[in-house]
Amino acid sequence: MASEATEKVHVLIIGSGPAGYTAAIYAARANMKPVLYQGIQPGGQLTITTEVENYPGYPEGIQGPEMMVHFEKQAARMGADIRYGLATKVDFNKQPYRVEIDEEKWIEADAVIISTGASAKWLGLESEQRLNGFGVSACAVCDGFFFKGKDVAIVGAGDTAAEEALYLSKLCTTVHMFIRRDQMRASKVMQDRVLNAPNIKVYWNTDTDEILGEKKVEAVRVKNNQTNETQEIPISGFFVAIGHQPNSDIFKGWIDMDETGYIKTIPGTTKTNLEGVFAAGDVQDKNYRQAVTAAGSGCMAALDAERYLTSKGLA
Ligand code: NDP
Repeated sequence: MASEATEKVHVLIIGSGPAGYTAAIYAARANMKPVLYQGIQPGGQLTITTEVENYPGYPEGIQGPEMMVHFEKQAARMGADIRYGLATKVDFNKQPYRVEIDEEKWIEADAVIISTGASAKWLGLESEQRLNGFGVSACAVCDGFFFKGKDVAIVGAGDTAAEEALYLSKLCTTVHMFIRRDQMRASKVMQDRVLNAPNIKVYWNTDTDEILGEKKVEAVRVKNNQTNETQEIPISGFFVAIGHQPNSDIFKGWIDMDETGYIKTIPGTTKTNLEGVFAAGDVQDKNYRQAVTAAGSGCMAALDAERYLTSKGLA
């Protein structure tokens, strides 16, 4: 049984990546008094990136964490109420919708904007967790630099893995690429680039058995899943690029999603199947996944929410 709501807000924004902060900027400027809960990783995925060169308006590029500080400051300056806290449960049974924060308090909101983003998937090995940050990474663009002139490995066979393998091949001596089937999922053009890169060594039908090293990554043990043959390959960095999963678990059963958990929105809008609940950014976008597209959809969510509230006489 849900505890009593302790606070009523007008517009609640869940998540603090480019989508959430942009929604907050627009909602605050439209006098919708948004309250934004930042979630477990304030600033979102960009806080684990280094240089961002493709966000318009920064001709010299900018560091991801710094850019997210700018987003937050701008939202705060417009009057958004930005709070540290994690949405842990929702009750979308009736309006106003209810969202539990940190398992301890409930917020009631006239409109909810979901911008909880997506997270990298991991293989699930004990060694992967233990050595995370000590040679294990899910972001080549963030961490590749640390392995300049060294040998590294990457697992995955989609466009992300291909892109990251190519990125690493420009920095590292050899990139060992482990592919679990006898073919790649990546687009043909990316496959060709990978297969033609002189220092990317592709291992087909290969699973990662264990990442080896006490305090930092020193090698990896892989197994050919056809022959069961294992081999140890000395490396300094191990990159996981096996896809992302949307952070949508708490909305399951309430909001329509696709089979992988991405929230479905009505094309051309940020509207979900529930009136007054909107979704923006990577939690509803598995195609583009860019800071600028997330920010754009955050803007759309705030405008959709404003129109919704006006139509209900709640603005
Ligand atoms: P994908 O889901 O497309 O690919 C994930 C890859 O990881 C697959 O090859 C999969 O293997 C492999 N994989 C999954 N789990 C494991 C595991 N446990 N062990 C080993 N391998 C595993 O994710 P991406 O992040 O690559 O791409 C997501 C979307 O973004 C795609 O639509 C992609 O096209 C798009 N994208 C486009 C880019 C571009 O156009 N420039 C750049 C990056 C992404 P298997 O094939 O066997 O299932």
